[in-house]
Amino acid sequence: MLSFLLGCLQPLATIASGLGKDKKLFILIYHQVLDEADFMRPGEVDKQAFTWQMALLSRYFNVLPLPEALAGLQQGTLPPRAVTITFDDGYADNLHNAVPILKSFGLSATFFIASGYLDGGRMWNDTVIEAVRACSLPQLDLTAIGLTSYDIDTPQKKRAAAQQIIKAIKHLPYPQRLECTRYLEQQVQSLPDDLMLTSEQLIQLQKSGMEIGGHTVSHPIMAKLAAADAKAEVLDNQLFLQQLLATKLRYFAYPNGKPGDDYLPEHRQLIADCGYQAAFSTRWGVADKHSDIWQLPRFTPWDTTPLRFMLRLIRMYKSGN
Ligand SMILES: [Zn+2]
Repeated sequence: MLSFLLGCLQPLATIASGLGKDKKLFILIYHQVLDEADFMRPGEVDKQAFTWQMALLSRYFNVLPLPEALAGLQQGTLPPRAVTITFDDGYADNLHNAVPILKSFGLSATFFIASGYLDGGRMWNDTVIEAVRACSLPQLDLTAIGLTSYDIDTPQKKRAAAQQIIKAIKHLPYPQRLECTRYLEQQVQSLPDDLMLTSEQLIQLQKSGMEIGGHTVSHPIMAKLAAADAKAEVLDNQLFLQQLLATKLRYFAYPNGKPGDDYLPEHRQLIADCGYQAAFSTRWGVADKHSDIWQLPRFTPWDTTPLRFMLRLIRMYKSGN
């Protein structure tokens, strides 16, 4: 079935085959590969979707490991339709679900790890998602922490409430955001502590042939931190991962990653000074030889059908964003 579906894309692949002259690089960004689609996490792929996406990429594109892709970008020797795959944050499903699928197609990827959440940690946005999911009341009253009261009596309303809460507290100063997530934790019996990789699993991920990169310790909005704190976030993460993995980290991804909002020019300099070779933003786009190696653009392929996925890649290749 998958092979039939992908075969139907042959005419598009013929169009795409003319795209090689421009020497551009698609840098895809993923976070999770879920066991199954999850109504609380509509932006994440599941194993089935990730499988057809990798099948499509390996059939019609040139998926390169990051070092090769960047060398090709800098030297003007990229093959046509070059793609490289990245994952941010360090979810456990990266090892359980993404790696076996990647390996089944002979592909590798780069995983940027927020080291403070290894071994049982949970990112604040996941605390929001999981607390709203676990809450059995028809309404979640958060007026005590300066938010509102949310209807959560259907899956759709739960999803909407979690997204609204995340949006409302995302850019709060850290102590206030922590107060909100602590309050949410108190509203439910228990929350998962196995969403992220353990240190041991991260070693396994690396041993499976995957590249590991830095992503700060606690995934802060660097633009909101004092210079010394931003530096400590970057250096502590780098030092910890390098010791754990007995290797030098080569690449870094800015947490959240929007230039100007989430990190500033001084952070670009900080990363360049830390011994990294390249860094990645979440600015939506396709990299080419003019791209700044310290803030390479990426994008998330969230399309839900092979046809749309393919069309988006072709359109982005032509327009650059
Ligand atoms: Zn991240």
